[in-house]
Amino acid sequence: MPQILDGKVVREEIFAGLKPRIQGICKKLHRPPGLAVVLVGEDPASKQYVQNKIKACSDLGIYSRKVSPPATISTEELLEVLDGVNRDPEIDGILVQMPLPKQVDSRRVLEAVIPEKDADGFHPLNVGHLVAGRPAPRACTPAGIMEMVKYYRIPVDGRNAVVVGRSDIIGKPMALMLLAANATVTICHSRTSNLAEECRRADLIVAAIGRPALITADFIKPGAAVIDVGTSRITDPAEAARLGRTREFEQKGAAWVGDVNPVDVEKVAGAYSPVPGGVGPLTIAMLMSNTVGLAESHG
Ligand code: NAP
Repeated sequence: MPQILDGKVVREEIFAGLKPRIQGICKKLHRPPGLAVVLVGEDPASKQYVQNKIKACSDLGIYSRKVSPPATISTEELLEVLDGVNRDPEIDGILVQMPLPKQVDSRRVLEAVIPEKDADGFHPLNVGHLVAGRPAPRACTPAGIMEMVKYYRIPVDGRNAVVVGRSDIIGKPMALMLLAANATVTICHSRTSNLAEECRRADLIVAAIGRPALITADFIKPGAAVIDVGTSRITDPAEAARLGRTREFEQKGAAWVGDVNPVDVEKVAGAYSPVPGGVGPLTIAMLMSNTVGLAESHG
Protein backbone atom coordinates (compact mmCIF):
# COMPACT_ATOMS: atom_id res chain seq x y z
CA MET A 1 0.00 0.00 0.00
CA PRO A 2 1.33 3.47 -0.82
CA GLN A 3 1.83 6.13 1.80
CA ILE A 4 -1.26 8.38 1.96
CA LEU A 5 -0.41 12.08 1.79
CA ASP A 6 -3.02 13.56 4.11
CA GLY A 7 -3.65 17.25 3.43
CA LYS A 8 -5.45 17.80 6.74
CA VAL A 9 -2.36 16.82 8.74
CA VAL A 10 -0.21 19.24 6.70
CA ARG A 11 -2.83 21.99 7.05
CA GLU A 12 -2.75 21.62 10.86
CA GLU A 13 1.04 21.90 10.78
CA ILE A 14 0.80 25.08 8.66
CA PHE A 15 -1.85 26.57 10.96
CA ALA A 16 0.27 25.77 14.03
CA GLY A 17 3.16 27.68 12.45
CA LEU A 18 0.93 30.67 11.60
CA LYS A 19 -0.57 31.17 15.09
CA PRO A 20 2.52 32.69 16.79
CA ARG A 21 3.16 34.82 13.69
CA ILE A 22 -0.40 36.19 13.90
CA GLN A 23 0.14 37.01 17.58
CA GLY A 24 3.34 38.84 16.62
CA ILE A 25 1.47 40.87 13.99
CA CYS A 26 -1.28 41.79 16.50
CA LYS A 27 1.42 43.06 18.90
CA LYS A 28 3.34 44.99 16.28
CA LEU A 29 0.49 46.46 14.22
CA HIS A 30 -2.09 46.65 17.07
CA ARG A 31 -4.53 44.86 14.79
CA PRO A 32 -4.87 41.36 13.34
CA PRO A 33 -3.88 40.53 9.76
CA GLY A 34 -6.80 41.34 7.44
CA LEU A 35 -8.13 39.55 4.34
CA ALA A 36 -10.78 40.97 2.01
CA VAL A 37 -12.67 38.39 -0.03
CA VAL A 38 -14.47 39.80 -3.06
CA LEU A 39 -17.40 37.62 -4.10
CA VAL A 40 -19.35 38.88 -7.10
CA GLY A 41 -22.90 37.52 -7.39
CA GLU A 42 -24.57 34.51 -5.83
CA ASP A 43 -22.96 31.40 -7.39
CA PRO A 44 -23.54 28.65 -4.76
CA ALA A 45 -20.15 26.92 -5.26
CA SER A 46 -18.27 30.25 -5.02
CA LYS A 47 -20.29 31.18 -1.92
CA GLN A 48 -19.28 27.90 -0.27
CA TYR A 49 -15.57 28.42 -1.12
CA VAL A 50 -15.73 31.95 0.31
CA GLN A 51 -17.49 30.66 3.43
CA ASN A 52 -14.67 28.12 3.96
CA LYS A 53 -12.04 30.85 3.60
CA ILE A 54 -13.82 33.13 6.08
CA LYS A 55 -14.12 30.26 8.56
CA ALA A 56 -10.37 29.55 8.29
CA CYS A 57 -9.70 33.26 9.03
CA SER A 58 -11.94 33.16 12.07
CA ASP A 59 -10.32 29.91 13.35
CA LEU A 60 -6.90 31.55 13.15
CA GLY A 61 -7.75 35.06 14.39
CA ILE A 62 -7.38 36.76 11.00
CA TYR A 63 -9.81 39.61 10.35
CA SER A 64 -11.89 38.94 7.24
CA ARG A 65 -14.18 41.18 5.27
CA LYS A 66 -16.57 39.89 2.64
CA VAL A 67 -17.24 42.37 -0.15
CA SER A 68 -20.15 41.13 -2.26
CA PRO A 69 -21.19 43.32 -5.18
CA PRO A 70 -24.08 42.15 -7.39
CA ALA A 71 -23.60 39.88 -10.44
CA THR A 72 -24.58 42.81 -12.71
CA ILE A 73 -21.48 44.86 -11.75
CA SER A 74 -19.39 46.30 -14.60
CA THR A 75 -15.60 46.06 -14.86
CA GLU A 76 -15.21 49.78 -14.05
CA GLU A 77 -17.42 49.50 -10.97
CA LEU A 78 -15.52 46.45 -9.73
CA LEU A 79 -12.21 48.29 -10.25
CA GLU A 80 -13.58 51.04 -7.99
CA VAL A 81 -14.46 48.48 -5.33
CA LEU A 82 -10.91 47.12 -5.53
CA ASP A 83 -9.47 50.61 -5.30
CA GLY A 84 -11.25 50.95 -1.95
CA VAL A 85 -9.80 47.71 -0.52
CA ASN A 86 -6.37 48.41 -2.01
CA ARG A 87 -6.28 51.62 0.09
CA ASP A 88 -7.82 50.16 3.25
CA PRO A 89 -5.15 50.06 6.03
CA GLU A 90 -6.92 47.19 7.84
CA ILE A 91 -6.62 44.92 4.80
CA ASP A 92 -3.33 43.11 4.06
CA GLY A 93 -4.54 40.59 1.49
CA ILE A 94 -7.22 40.63 -1.19
CA LEU A 95 -8.75 37.66 -2.93
CA VAL A 96 -11.15 37.93 -5.86
CA GLN A 97 -13.21 34.74 -6.06
CA MET A 98 -13.25 33.30 -9.57
CA PRO A 99 -15.04 32.91 -11.92
CA LEU A 100 -16.34 36.45 -12.48
CA PRO A 101 -19.50 37.19 -14.51
CA LYS A 102 -19.03 37.24 -18.29
CA GLN A 103 -19.30 41.03 -18.68
CA VAL A 104 -16.34 41.56 -16.31
CA ASP A 105 -12.77 41.62 -17.68
CA SER A 106 -11.16 39.12 -15.25
CA ARG A 107 -7.61 39.92 -16.29
CA ARG A 108 -8.02 43.65 -15.62
CA VAL A 109 -9.62 42.90 -12.27
CA LEU A 110 -6.89 40.49 -11.13
CA GLU A 111 -4.20 42.94 -12.20
CA ALA A 112 -5.95 45.74 -10.28
CA VAL A 113 -5.21 44.04 -6.94
CA ILE A 114 -1.98 45.75 -5.91
CA PRO A 115 0.94 43.25 -5.76
CA GLU A 116 1.51 44.15 -2.07
CA LYS A 117 -1.98 42.79 -1.25
CA ASP A 118 -2.13 39.93 -3.77
CA ALA A 119 -3.13 37.05 -1.45
CA ASP A 120 -3.56 34.64 -4.38
CA GLY A 121 -0.14 35.30 -5.94
CA PHE A 122 -1.72 35.82 -9.37
CA HIS A 123 -0.44 39.35 -10.11
CA PRO A 124 2.10 39.33 -12.99
CA LEU A 125 4.68 41.07 -10.79
CA ASN A 126 4.45 38.28 -8.21
CA VAL A 127 4.55 35.63 -10.96
CA GLY A 128 7.72 37.38 -12.15
CA HIS A 129 9.14 37.14 -8.62
CA LEU A 130 8.41 33.40 -8.68
CA VAL A 131 10.25 33.05 -11.99
CA ALA A 132 13.20 35.02 -10.59
CA GLY A 133 13.25 33.07 -7.30
CA ARG A 134 12.47 36.11 -5.14
CA PRO A 135 10.16 36.03 -2.10
CA ALA A 136 6.55 37.01 -2.92
CA PRO A 137 3.08 35.54 -2.43
CA ARG A 138 2.85 32.27 -4.34
CA ALA A 139 -0.17 30.66 -6.03
CA CYS A 140 -1.86 28.81 -3.15
CA THR A 141 -2.50 25.30 -4.54
CA PRO A 142 1.02 24.62 -5.86
CA ALA A 143 2.56 26.30 -2.78
CA GLY A 144 0.46 23.92 -0.64
CA ILE A 145 1.73 20.95 -2.66
CA MET A 146 5.32 22.03 -1.97
CA GLU A 147 4.47 22.09 1.77
CA MET A 148 2.99 18.60 1.46
CA VAL A 149 6.07 17.29 -0.35
CA LYS A 150 8.30 18.82 2.34
CA TYR A 151 6.21 17.49 5.23
CA TYR A 152 6.23 13.91 3.90
CA ARG A 153 9.89 14.17 2.80
CA ILE A 154 9.10 13.22 -0.80
CA PRO A 155 12.45 13.47 -2.63
CA VAL A 156 12.43 16.26 -5.25
CA ASP A 157 16.06 17.37 -5.64
CA GLY A 158 17.49 15.73 -8.77
CA ARG A 159 14.30 13.73 -9.44
CA ASN A 160 12.10 13.69 -12.55
CA ALA A 161 8.85 15.56 -11.97
CA VAL A 162 6.00 15.61 -14.48
CA VAL A 163 3.29 18.24 -14.12
CA VAL A 164 0.18 17.48 -16.17
CA GLY A 165 -1.67 20.75 -16.83
CA ARG A 166 -0.33 24.20 -17.71
CA SER A 167 -2.85 26.60 -16.21
CA ASP A 168 -1.68 29.93 -14.80
CA ILE A 169 -3.01 29.06 -11.35
CA ILE A 170 -1.70 25.49 -10.96
CA GLY A 171 0.39 23.85 -13.71
CA LYS A 172 2.79 26.68 -14.57
CA PRO A 173 3.56 27.89 -11.01
CA MET A 174 3.81 24.23 -9.88
CA ALA A 175 6.47 23.55 -12.51
CA LEU A 176 8.43 26.66 -11.46
CA MET A 177 8.30 25.71 -7.77
CA LEU A 178 9.52 22.16 -8.51
CA LEU A 179 12.28 23.58 -10.70
CA ALA A 180 13.33 25.88 -7.84
CA ALA A 181 13.51 22.74 -5.67
CA ASN A 182 15.96 21.23 -8.20
CA ALA A 183 13.63 18.74 -9.90
CA THR A 184 14.00 18.03 -13.61
CA VAL A 185 10.58 19.20 -14.72
CA THR A 186 8.41 18.23 -17.69
CA ILE A 187 5.11 20.06 -18.29
CA CYS A 188 2.41 18.10 -20.17
CA HIS A 189 -0.91 19.33 -21.55
CA SER A 190 -3.71 18.38 -23.93
CA ARG A 191 -1.37 18.45 -26.95
CA THR A 192 1.32 16.22 -25.40
CA SER A 193 1.75 13.35 -27.84
CA ASN A 194 2.38 10.44 -25.46
CA LEU A 195 1.20 11.38 -22.01
CA ALA A 196 1.50 7.89 -20.49
CA GLU A 197 5.12 7.58 -21.59
CA GLU A 198 6.02 11.04 -20.24
CA CYS A 199 4.36 10.26 -16.91
CA ARG A 200 6.04 6.86 -16.58
CA ARG A 201 9.45 8.58 -16.39
CA ALA A 202 8.35 10.58 -13.35
CA ASP A 203 9.43 10.03 -9.77
CA LEU A 204 6.79 12.64 -8.91
CA ILE A 205 3.59 13.28 -10.87
CA VAL A 206 1.36 16.28 -10.23
CA ALA A 207 -1.95 15.85 -12.06
CA ALA A 208 -3.87 19.15 -12.48
CA ILE A 209 -6.11 18.38 -15.43
CA GLY A 210 -9.78 18.21 -14.47
CA ARG A 211 -10.44 14.88 -16.27
CA PRO A 212 -11.70 12.22 -13.84
CA ALA A 213 -9.39 9.20 -13.44
CA LEU A 214 -7.41 9.94 -16.63
CA ILE A 215 -4.14 8.82 -15.00
CA THR A 216 -4.25 5.02 -14.85
CA ALA A 217 -1.76 2.34 -13.73
CA ASP A 218 0.19 2.41 -17.00
CA PHE A 219 1.04 6.13 -16.44
CA ILE A 220 2.73 5.50 -13.09
CA LYS A 221 6.27 4.27 -12.49
CA PRO A 222 6.19 1.74 -9.61
CA GLY A 223 6.95 3.55 -6.37
CA ALA A 224 6.39 7.08 -7.76
CA ALA A 225 4.74 9.81 -5.68
CA VAL A 226 1.44 10.94 -7.22
CA ILE A 227 -0.19 14.23 -6.27
CA ASP A 228 -3.78 14.50 -7.47
CA VAL A 229 -5.07 18.08 -7.79
CA GLY A 230 -8.11 17.41 -10.01
CA THR A 231 -11.58 17.50 -8.55
CA SER A 232 -14.46 16.22 -10.68
CA ARG A 233 -17.99 15.31 -9.69
CA ILE A 234 -19.14 11.89 -10.91
CA THR A 235 -22.88 11.43 -11.37
CA ASP A 236 -22.89 8.06 -13.18
CA PRO A 237 -23.31 5.16 -10.69
CA ALA A 238 -21.44 2.69 -12.93
CA GLU A 239 -18.46 5.08 -13.17
CA ALA A 240 -18.55 5.57 -9.39
CA ALA A 241 -18.55 1.77 -8.89
CA ARG A 242 -15.62 1.32 -11.33
CA LEU A 243 -13.64 3.87 -9.29
CA GLY A 244 -14.52 2.23 -5.95
CA ARG A 245 -16.84 5.05 -4.87
CA THR A 246 -20.15 3.20 -4.58
CA ARG A 247 -20.65 3.95 -0.89
CA GLU A 248 -20.06 7.71 -1.33
CA PHE A 249 -22.36 7.68 -4.37
CA GLU A 250 -25.14 5.92 -2.44
CA GLN A 251 -24.86 8.39 0.44
CA LYS A 252 -24.62 11.61 -1.57
CA GLY A 253 -25.98 10.83 -5.03
CA ALA A 254 -22.60 11.76 -6.55
CA ALA A 255 -18.91 11.18 -5.87
CA TRP A 256 -15.82 13.41 -6.08
CA VAL A 257 -12.80 11.95 -7.84
CA GLY A 258 -9.44 13.27 -8.95
CA ASP A 259 -7.47 13.01 -12.18
CA VAL A 260 -5.88 9.78 -10.96
CA ASN A 261 -7.69 6.43 -10.98
CA PRO A 262 -7.96 5.77 -7.22
CA VAL A 263 -8.05 1.98 -7.62
CA ASP A 264 -4.97 1.82 -9.88
CA VAL A 265 -2.83 4.27 -7.90
CA GLU A 266 -3.05 2.10 -4.79
CA LYS A 267 -1.48 -0.79 -6.71
CA VAL A 268 1.49 1.07 -8.19
CA ALA A 269 2.40 4.34 -6.42
CA GLY A 270 4.78 4.71 -3.49
CA ALA A 271 2.82 7.67 -2.13
CA TYR A 272 -0.31 9.50 -3.21
CA SER A 273 -2.62 12.31 -2.19
CA PRO A 274 -6.26 11.18 -2.28
CA VAL A 275 -9.28 13.15 -3.51
CA PRO A 276 -10.90 14.36 -1.35
CA GLY A 277 -8.58 15.00 1.61
CA GLY A 278 -5.25 15.46 -0.17
CA VAL A 279 -4.42 18.77 -1.84
CA GLY A 280 -7.83 20.39 -1.15
CA PRO A 281 -7.21 21.47 2.48
CA LEU A 282 -3.86 23.04 1.55
CA THR A 283 -5.16 25.71 -0.81
CA ILE A 284 -6.94 27.61 1.97
CA ALA A 285 -4.02 27.01 4.36
CA MET A 286 -1.68 28.74 1.91
CA LEU A 287 -4.14 31.60 1.42
CA MET A 288 -3.89 32.15 5.18
CA SER A 289 -0.12 31.86 5.00
CA ASN A 290 0.09 34.43 2.18
CA THR A 291 -2.16 36.83 4.14
CA VAL A 292 0.06 36.52 7.21
CA GLY A 293 3.20 37.03 5.11
CA LEU A 294 1.71 40.15 3.51
CA ALA A 295 0.73 41.55 6.94
CA GLU A 296 4.29 40.99 8.16
CA SER A 297 5.63 42.87 5.18
CA HIS A 298 3.27 45.78 6.00
CA GLY A 299 4.61 46.05 9.56
P1 NAP B 1 -7.59 24.26 -16.42
O1 NAP B 1 -7.29 25.70 -16.41
O2 NAP B 1 -8.79 23.75 -17.13
O3 NAP B 1 -6.31 23.51 -16.98
C1 NAP B 1 -6.33 22.14 -17.26
C2 NAP B 1 -5.04 21.73 -17.90
O4 NAP B 1 -5.12 20.33 -18.18
C3 NAP B 1 -4.75 22.44 -19.22
O5 NAP B 1 -3.41 22.86 -19.27
C4 NAP B 1 -5.05 21.39 -20.29
O6 NAP B 1 -4.22 21.46 -21.43
C5 NAP B 1 -4.72 20.12 -19.54
N1 NAP B 1 -5.46 18.98 -20.11
C6 NAP B 1 -6.78 18.89 -20.37
N2 NAP B 1 -7.08 17.70 -20.91
C7 NAP B 1 -5.92 17.01 -20.97
C8 NAP B 1 -5.58 15.71 -21.44
N3 NAP B 1 -6.50 14.88 -21.94
N4 NAP B 1 -4.29 15.34 -21.37
C9 NAP B 1 -3.35 16.17 -20.87
N5 NAP B 1 -3.62 17.41 -20.39
C10 NAP B 1 -4.89 17.82 -20.46
O7 NAP B 1 -7.73 23.69 -14.93
P2 NAP B 1 -7.04 24.19 -13.55
O8 NAP B 1 -7.68 25.44 -13.09
O9 NAP B 1 -5.56 24.12 -13.67
O10 NAP B 1 -7.54 23.01 -12.58
C11 NAP B 1 -7.21 21.65 -12.82
C12 NAP B 1 -7.98 20.77 -11.86
O11 NAP B 1 -7.62 21.09 -10.52
C13 NAP B 1 -9.50 20.93 -11.93
O12 NAP B 1 -10.12 19.68 -11.73
C14 NAP B 1 -9.81 21.84 -10.75
O13 NAP B 1 -11.12 21.64 -10.26
C15 NAP B 1 -8.79 21.35 -9.75
N6 NAP B 1 -8.44 22.34 -8.71
C16 NAP B 1 -8.29 21.86 -7.44
C17 NAP B 1 -7.91 22.74 -6.45
C18 NAP B 1 -7.74 22.22 -5.06
O14 NAP B 1 -7.59 23.02 -4.14
N7 NAP B 1 -7.74 20.91 -4.87
C19 NAP B 1 -7.69 24.10 -6.72
C20 NAP B 1 -7.85 24.55 -8.02
C21 NAP B 1 -8.23 23.65 -9.01
P3 NAP B 1 -4.30 22.71 -22.48
O15 NAP B 1 -3.57 23.83 -21.81
O16 NAP B 1 -3.59 22.19 -23.67
O17 NAP B 1 -5.75 22.99 -22.68
